[in-house]
Amino acid sequence: MVILQAPRRVLSRFGHQKKWIKRFSSRVGDSELRTNYDAIIIGAGHNGLVTAAYLQKAGLQVCVLEKRYIIGGAAVTEEIIPGFKFSRASYVLSLLRPQIYTDLELKKYGLKVYLRDPSSYTPLLEPGGLSGSARSLLLGRDHDENTRQIAQFSVTDAQRFGEYEAQLERIVAAMDPLLDSAPVTVPGLTKSSFSDKLQSLASFKALGNTAKSLGKDFPLFYEFMTAPAEKILDKWFESEPLKATLATDSVIGAMTSPTLPGSGYVLLHHVMGELEGKKGAWGYVEGGMGALSQAIANCGMDYGASIYTDKAVSNIIVNNGRAEGVVLEDGTEIKSKLVLSNATPKITFLDLLPEGSLPSPVLSDLKQFDFRSPVTKINVALDKIPNFVADPNVTDNTPMPHHRCTIHINCENSELIHKAYMDAQAGHYSRKPVIEMVIPSSLDPTLAPPGCHVALLFTQYTPYHLSDGREWDEYTKGQYSDQGMYMYSETRYSYSHISKYMVR
Ligand SMILES: Cc1cc2nc3c(=O)[nH]c(=O)nc-3n(C[C@H](O)[C@H](O)[C@H](O)COP(=O)(O)OP(=O)(O)OC[C@H]3O[C@@H](n4cnc5c(N)ncnc54)[C@H](O)[C@@H]3O)c2cc1C
Repeated sequence: MVILQAPRRVLSRFGHQKKWIKRFSSRVGDSELRTNYDAIIIGAGHNGLVTAAYLQKAGLQVCVLEKRYIIGGAAVTEEIIPGFKFSRASYVLSLLRPQIYTDLELKKYGLKVYLRDPSSYTPLLEPGGLSGSARSLLLGRDHDENTRQIAQFSVTDAQRFGEYEAQLERIVAAMDPLLDSAPVTVPGLTKSSFSDKLQSLASFKALGNTAKSLGKDFPLFYEFMTAPAEKILDKWFESEPLKATLATDSVIGAMTSPTLPGSGYVLLHHVMGELEGKKGAWGYVEGGMGALSQAIANCGMDYGASIYTDKAVSNIIVNNGRAEGVVLEDGTEIKSKLVLSNATPKITFLDLLPEGSLPSPVLSDLKQFDFRSPVTKINVALDKIPNFVADPNVTDNTPMPHHRCTIHINCENSELIHKAYMDAQAGHYSRKPVIEMVIPSSLDPTLAPPGCHVALLFTQYTPYHLSDGREWDEYTKGQYSDQGMYMYSETRYSYSHISKYMVR
């Protein structure tokens, strides 16, 4: 994954260097680092912090060691441009399990969310809609409004949309308990003692319940798990803007195309969340995603967990096949009965464990693991709210409902998504990238100075290695981000007056 901070020219114009990034969101304890804990967690990403809070709550003495200056991992807020707070990587909330929300009392510890409705906006690069001007597709929780919106493109699709959503909701409801259960342990069934076999049989219970609840929806569920999203969407709908908008969920964050098997599951994955009791809802965290990490950390620290930043773990100490602690980059040794890692499996098993700690089949499986992400994030400061041609602003600088949505650019038809993917397969960044843009400051006033906004563009596909031999240096990143910004500002998407921070 490549994360850009802001377009290169933006930074150079204002002379901002990395040192400008303000350290505001990370409150961590100031206790002395000890030499022994019950549990050490490597990494203070939100999953590391959740684990720390649960273990500390259960009575263990927990220590979290984070290598960056700030906690949160991908769920982080950084003030890349003075006065503008960016959810630098992850930017919308839905997939955090509701049980964690409740168990860790995240509201009490400072979490505030803004629900979005409508949630999805697709402005089209084509003139000639009902009003004679550019068209757009706005989707949300209002069934009648969805019907009206989709009917601009296909009356049949408008009639089928409710049924499609209802079926997805039933599948998600049936899968819900699976997400909170221990994963099934298939090897336990064949390669272990009798008691382990019994235990692994128990792990199949949730799976059995899900299969039972799916009932007549099982064939569609199976289709989602195995088929390309495009095949599923083609069976339901005929209008391209709708299919393409729904297909974005099938590729988001994944180096895949809606035409490939597995993309159906990615689509399902992105509708499995819930927020504030509303199934499938997504929202913005007040203060950006770092405020979520901070709320989790606040809970853990309140129970007594110790969290340290600027503490990079260089290796895990292993003795007689058991992890016994860690060594920091500065040589400090910390012992522990339990070592948990929030870093990727690659970092954990290939970089931090001493050589020879893992059986060679496990090692070769790990080496095969494909970690490539297709995503480049472009975070931009705006001096006013964008003005979309399809839905012009009513007043000069007041956010309208569509500004609060995920805004889909280059989403006129599914073929565009596939072509963008094929560019990356050939080793180029996409000429017309898939762009999901959000403007969280349209709901959260804490992110930008009055009247100004932050726009976060989640774009793909950008291969790690470019086939023409270019490196992802500042120049190439600048070229890519300029192109992304050009797509978004192309006169028929949005009036070009975007931002004083963008210099074209
Ligand atoms: C650009 C982008 C956008 C995304 N958008 C969304 C979104 O909008 N909504 C959503 O639900 N999901 C989103 N995701 C996915 C989601 O953010 C991640 O899946 C999630 O944040 C991962 O959390 P984690 O705690 O498991 O790992 P991470 O957040 O990766 O945390 C791992 C932590 O470990 C630390 N670490 C690594 N090695 C060491 C070491 N040796 N010593 C000490 N510390 C170490 C790292 O610095 C990091 O802080 C997005 C992901 C990306 C990359």
